[in-house]
Amino acid sequence: MKIGILAVQGDFEAHAAMLRSLGAETVEVRAVADLESCDGLILPGGESTTQLQFLQEEGLYDAIRKFAADGRAIFGTCAGAILLATEVKNPPQSSLGLMDMTVLRNAYGRQLASDVFFGPSKLKSEPMEMVFIRGPIIERAGNSLEILAEYAGKPVLVQKGNLLAATFHPELTADSTVHEHFLQIVAKRVMRQAEV
Ligand code: GLN
Repeated sequence: MKIGILAVQGDFEAHAAMLRSLGAETVEVRAVADLESCDGLILPGGESTTQLQFLQEEGLYDAIRKFAADGRAIFGTCAGAILLATEVKNPPQSSLGLMDMTVLRNAYGRQLASDVFFGPSKLKSEPMEMVFIRGPIIERAGNSLEILAEYAGKPVLVQKGNLLAATFHPELTADSTVHEHFLQIVAKRVMRQAEV
């Protein structure tokens, strides 16, 4: 499986290291052509305003929307989750609008990944380790989203079919549960394609 990671700025290297430790091939995505051979895509943390501008300038905005419409998997963490949301507040900004949720930017955690929080999830029985770096709060999650993890009563990991969004940074902990889950989403589609 080949996973593209948007590599404009932010912590794309940490995602690549985690995915490689799980046996996936990774490719840095900076142009539309980089996406072509990818089975999945990670939109990492960073600054969503800068990333959005880059996507629009490089034609990646439309290419990523098509990537999702083709059924290929996308995982957005923190700034990436902001890009996937249909509505962004604090301040308002446009987005890819692929997951029906309202997010409030810069709501949890400090600028440095110094605090670790724990919350319940559907992916494992023990509490899940969560690092927030000025992460967004999911203020509203539409009915089309499945809530996979929560912190302080708010969703922090949500899925809609091939799309996954986390307001925390699973790539900055030693726990690979969320990345393993993402690779399972990718694998399902790869297997379906192979059957056709
Ligand atoms: N504050 C950032 C934003 O709104 C997100 C922070 C992060 O990705 N760690 O884009």
